[in-house]
Amino acid sequence: MGQWRASTFAGAIIALGVSLINTEGRAMSSVEVSPGVSVLSAGAINVGVIRAEGRVLLVGCAAPGVLERGGVRPSDVDWVLLTHHFRDEAEGARELAAMGAKIAVPAAERTLFEHAEAFWSSDEWRVHAYHYHPSPRTLRVSVPVDRALAPGDAFEWRGVEVRALDGRGPTDGGLAYAVTANGRTVAFAGDLIYGPGQLRDLYSLQGERTWGEGGKYGEYHGFGERAAVALRSLDGVLAARPSVLVPTHGIVIREAAHAVAALRTNLDECLRSYWKTSAGRWYFAGARPEWPVDIGYLKPRCRKLPSWVVEVGGTSRAIVAGDGHCIVVDCAGDVPSRVAELQRQGKLGAVDAIWVTHYHDDHVGAVNELRAAQQCAVVAHETMADILQRPDAYLMPCLDPQPIRVDRVTRDGETWSWRGFTLTALSFPGQTFYDAALLVQRGDERVLFLGDSFTPGGMDDYCALNRNLVAKGHGYDRCLDVLEKLGPSCLLVNEHVDGAFAFTEAELAEMRAELGRRREALRRLLPWDEPDYGLDPQWARCDPYLQRAAPGMAVGWNLRLLNHSRTAKRALVRLRAPEGWKVLVGDGSVLVRPGRDASVHLAAVAPPDASGRAVVGFEVRWAGADLGELAEGVVQFGGPARGREP
Ligand SMILES: [Zn+2]
Ligand SMILES: [Zn+2]
Repeated sequence: MGQWRASTFAGAIIALGVSLINTEGRAMSSVEVSPGVSVLSAGAINVGVIRAEGRVLLVGCAAPGVLERGGVRPSDVDWVLLTHHFRDEAEGARELAAMGAKIAVPAAERTLFEHAEAFWSSDEWRVHAYHYHPSPRTLRVSVPVDRALAPGDAFEWRGVEVRALDGRGPTDGGLAYAVTANGRTVAFAGDLIYGPGQLRDLYSLQGERTWGEGGKYGEYHGFGERAAVALRSLDGVLAARPSVLVPTHGIVIREAAHAVAALRTNLDECLRSYWKTSAGRWYFAGARPEWPVDIGYLKPRCRKLPSWVVEVGGTSRAIVAGDGHCIVVDCAGDVPSRVAELQRQGKLGAVDAIWVTHYHDDHVGAVNELRAAQQCAVVAHETMADILQRPDAYLMPCLDPQPIRVDRVTRDGETWSWRGFTLTALSFPGQTFYDAALLVQRGDERVLFLGDSFTPGGMDDYCALNRNLVAKGHGYDRCLDVLEKLGPSCLLVNEHVDGAFAFTEAELAEMRAELGRRREALRRLLPWDEPDYGLDPQWARCDPYLQRAAPGMAVGWNLRLLNHSRTAKRALVRLRAPEGWKVLVGDGSVLVRPGRDASVHLAAVAPPDASGRAVVGFEVRWAGADLGELAEGVVQFGGPARGREP
């Protein structure tokens, strides 16, 4: 985050020196970027302040008190134009509307402003989530809308010309605005760009793809697929010939064309690197020009399974001992009945245990059912026992809401014997952060059940929301350590791939080298001291994410922060409770060691008449930088207690 709140042009930003979080103050600066157009940097975001005839039009928004301290009288505001539905962009808009300001929003995102509560009352974004737009960074509370604008719409306000431009990319229907005052145009680009060559995060660009005749993958598999849309939007912004480009987050840009060209180069480098090693080359051959339709070139990596591994079907395998007893690896869908059928046929004996490779619904959906039918233990690794037992506490892709009791939690490197086999549990943070691998050895034969973390095509890092980190020693870099240590004779099993596969030493070395090149490219793209902040939407997260509570009772939250930096960072966290809540612990601070996580506890009492769902926000200041409301938590009142373990 070296450039956080820095400016590209000399002398532009006058810091007013509010450096600590408190109930009133946020770091703030204001500068005129063009005649009649100022940018107020209010905490985490930039707000455009356009003045004419003694009145004000804002692009973006901030709380009335913040505006006032930035020299803007809230009662002077005629219009607030919002670029997209994220709540930091619309901060204070509701209060300003109550004071008489009119609110204009993108037509395609109108309902997210007017009916914010509808988003939160659904569970679509939270459980079995394979699609990530709209994002839960959306408004917690509705904002009244006076006008919905579509790309191409224009209006005049007191001699100032405002044009709405296509701003799609990080969100489905965002807008950019070109504002021409006193003969000069300033463009407001939302989160399409952060600074020259930079984006605030990459996970917002997760998108779907269609190709050829009926080829399609959804957002889950579409790493960076919205990059092209965002760049097209930026080309439209450049066509308005702005003298200044103002992003919602980040740096006010003078050389707009140069800044966008640099972004195109940086994005291209990151994506080209990703395409070279992606597991998508196996699953979605032909989806891109870089992924040949004929996967013959990957076939030499395929191997035969040893006789003691049975492909149960679905995403399950069974490790079968000489006496027929077995361990079932993962269980979803109709696997319990397949196991029963194989037992009837005499091909499988008693199930001794279920091993879970990772928490995704296509691997755990029927674990409870199989456990009940077979009276067997569930064994899972320390990296995922908690998410299996408390799924509601997390916001992660492909989450299955039914809790799974873990009978035995394994530690990294833990080895045990089972009916002639040696088993070793390994932390394996590949496809997801909450992931593990099981090494199974009998005689000379070794098989690593690695979940979904690799295919013969490479790494399954297509879903950034899974938290696949790029730092050295973390994420896939750590997985490659494991594979290198095991050597090319160890067979690898991904249950979405028939048989087994293996990588040569050269192939592993090439993947590691490419990952290193990608890390450096991501460093250029993402404006943080470590790129993982821009790849990991959950580095600051509320635990539990969703909890049930009774009206009038105290509710507690832990705001957990994972420090991706190489130095310790001080976090200051403040709770933003909805109206009517009585705050018990409203803020707190913690020093987070590098590579570790730590949490701040916050608490409030729910109103006696609370019902439905309430959404609380958490404002984060990280090493002095105001990041705004970075995380949220959901509290559910009344209703059936879903998801209780059978
Ligand atoms: Zn899977
Ligand atoms: Zn998976």
